[in-house]
Amino acid sequence: METNEILAKKILTEAKGYLDSGFTYSLNPYSGCAFACKYCYVREMPIQRFKGTPWGEWLDIKTNAAENYQNEIIKLRKKNKPVNIFMSSATDPYQPIERTANITRMLLEEMVENPPDFLQIQTRSPLVTRDLDLFAKLKEKCEVLVSMTVETDREDIKQLFAPYSPGIQLRIKALKELHDAGIHTQASISPVLPFTPDFPKILDGLADHIWIDTLSIGDGSMGKRSERLGMPDLFEEKGLSKWYRKDLHLMVEKYFSTYFHRERIRVSQKEVFPKLKQTFR
Ligand code: SF4
Repeated sequence: METNEILAKKILTEAKGYLDSGFTYSLNPYSGCAFACKYCYVREMPIQRFKGTPWGEWLDIKTNAAENYQNEIIKLRKKNKPVNIFMSSATDPYQPIERTANITRMLLEEMVENPPDFLQIQTRSPLVTRDLDLFAKLKEKCEVLVSMTVETDREDIKQLFAPYSPGIQLRIKALKELHDAGIHTQASISPVLPFTPDFPKILDGLADHIWIDTLSIGDGSMGKRSERLGMPDLFEEKGLSKWYRKDLHLMVEKYFSTYFHRERIRVSQKEVFPKLKQTFR
């Protein structure tokens, strides 16, 4: 892994595309990602296409992330701007190196002092539970949602599509720990990968929200990036083509609605920003 410490010019990026429906900023404490999921749409974005080093083999650590955040939120507050943050859209905020680098932890510490209005943590790493103490403090000051990606409940499928990412059982255990600690949680089935019939039952009682997204509509280009990444071919080669249909999100929503009230299920393209106030209060 080619790892560099960098000083970022800014840390809050104005929300665009699918996030621009309630989120106002994305926040990426790192550039690059050690998890290197095969389906990752960032592989097809300029940050990677012109990089020269393969995705998953480089990581920039934004060492001044917390300092930037402090400066930027103070300015935004003066302008009375809503600060609804999605962390993160082009990396995972809990990279393996976060254990020692503490970039995300320092950001959260700063957020406790200068809270946003809303924070969604998006990760697939059980390391997120390390920061339970900070989520507990932060939720007293703003809305916090910890969203754990669980694309499937099958470890064999996870190994096929994302062999370097944390195991599914570890993610489910982390989700339970967060939920038991009173943190609002979301299970992000994104992208939907083949799962067992028990999947909704496994998540029942662990996740306040379910988020459903698929490779053919959730890659920011209506499936074109996923196609360029060879996803339809990989599904076909493994005999999984029935899981690569354009209406998969609707079928999965229907299936999950037998366990989860529809109010608690959010589906790609319909609603990205969670309605925490309506669903929890
Ligand atoms: S964890 Fe997220 S950012 Fe990292 S490779 Fe996987 S999909 Fe991409």
